[in-house]
Amino acid sequence: MTQTATTEATYIGGVWEESKASAYSEIVNPATGEVIARIPLADESVVGRAVEAAAKAYPAWRRTPPQDRIQYLFRFRELLLKRIDDIARTVTLENGKTLAEAKAETQRGIENVEVACGIPTLMQGYNLEDIASGIDEIMIRQPLGVTAAITPFNFPSMIPLWFLPYAIATGNTFILKPSERVPLTAILLTQLLEEAGLPAGVMNLVVGAKPSVDALLHHPDVRAISFVGSTPVAKYIYSEGSAHGKRVQCQGGAKNYVVVMPDADLDMTAKIVSDSAFGCAGQRCLAVSVAVTVGDVKQKFTDAIVERASSIRTGNGLDKDVQMGPVITAQSKSRILQSVEKGLKEGGRVALDGRAGINGNAPHGNFIAPTILTDIDASNPLTSTEIFGPVLTVNSTNTLDDAIEVLSKSAFGNSSAIFTSSGAAARKFRYEVPTGNVGVNIGVAAPMAYFPFSGWKDSFMGVLHGQGKDAIEFYTDKKVVIERWPKEWSRKF
Ligand code: NAD
Repeated sequence: MTQTATTEATYIGGVWEESKASAYSEIVNPATGEVIARIPLADESVVGRAVEAAAKAYPAWRRTPPQDRIQYLFRFRELLLKRIDDIARTVTLENGKTLAEAKAETQRGIENVEVACGIPTLMQGYNLEDIASGIDEIMIRQPLGVTAAITPFNFPSMIPLWFLPYAIATGNTFILKPSERVPLTAILLTQLLEEAGLPAGVMNLVVGAKPSVDALLHHPDVRAISFVGSTPVAKYIYSEGSAHGKRVQCQGGAKNYVVVMPDADLDMTAKIVSDSAFGCAGQRCLAVSVAVTVGDVKQKFTDAIVERASSIRTGNGLDKDVQMGPVITAQSKSRILQSVEKGLKEGGRVALDGRAGINGNAPHGNFIAPTILTDIDASNPLTSTEIFGPVLTVNSTNTLDDAIEVLSKSAFGNSSAIFTSSGAAARKFRYEVPTGNVGVNIGVAAPMAYFPFSGWKDSFMGVLHGQGKDAIEFYTDKKVVIERWPKEWSRKF
């Protein structure tokens, strides 16, 4: 067996470093089980050097006019567009999602670069003359210093771009710590920033597991940390980062409900909900995983979505005709299958059984085909815990109030959606649901780059969300200056 070569994955102060690591991560293609790369894992000393390089680059970068800073982002955007197919292929190889999904997420990431190119306007403060006679007050936004983002496996290109463009456009320097399961996309993004000519130390890359995260959390020179990942880790990072004096924003896990009203167009609803539940193999933090029908449409909706979902072609995301890829690891696959087993043991029924995956066609891939369950009791973990796989549960209630009550009990508040043709039902839903992102006849309510990604409850810890104006506020501090220039103190002209 040939040994997979080690890939350079550490970029500090403008230099790709050869590894002297004591620990490595093997990057496995989830569709084939093949090891596609071997990555050195950063320890505390590597992270320490990254912070040092970012701190060293900060004074000059902060003094670079915003108009000049964004020129690097314009060039980065052009390179991202030029290389979008390579980026998508890398995402598919290490994450498993289809090429179309990989390209779409990269496009959503690029939109954040585009928004951040507006920093000379977005970062402006405000002022008022004569707050008292002859006294003016101005508010200026200034960058924080060294900032860092810790990102998950499920959107290898988009999620780093939720943070990086805003952080550097506002004048901060930045350290990216991507998921050690999907570092190859982050390496490619970093190479493109290098090609865009970004000054050394403004962007640094370290790949690692918990020790590298802890080193960022505890380093006194890291001013702000953005995190996206599971809720237990989000809670840890929020409390540990805050305790060490950092500004922290943590986007956590999710359990997303969709309410299907009796007046919804059921075929259209089934198509959209199926895309939401099974797109990216259910590994989207906005994926619908419980559908609650209201009134007597449960069977009709179940039939329609089973028909739709059973036509989804599951397989290797690199194949042109494939519509759904594998889940990330063999462990994820067995965890998902165990959750399904438990649901069935406790009285649930299978409406569409995808547990056999793709019938032995890819014995080393982590495939589960679309799976739809009904009659799952509200006390079963399938309706309350995050499954993060291609499994949808369909339940029913008598009224919209009941449906809202059911979904309001969730510990999570990332997203919810309603399908209806009634404006009144939609308005009531929008008004009452305790989730930060809401879809009305929309399956994946993913905010555009110029709106905040607004999770609530256990899906978000912090005050300022990612993206949009919140990102500008997160990456800057406000300085308020009150000025008096008495005429009698000035030289006479
Ligand atoms: P994860 O929590 O396992 O890992 C996320 C990051 O945290 C990785 O960089 C990882 O190296 C690091 N990490 C893991 N365990 C750690 C620990 N014990 N201490 C310190 N750092 C640790 O998440 P994942 O499996 O990569 O991603 C899937 C999760 O992310 C799901 O729960 C999903 O809902 C969530 N997610 C949320 C959003 C959102 O916007 N709310 C978006 C995407 C994904």
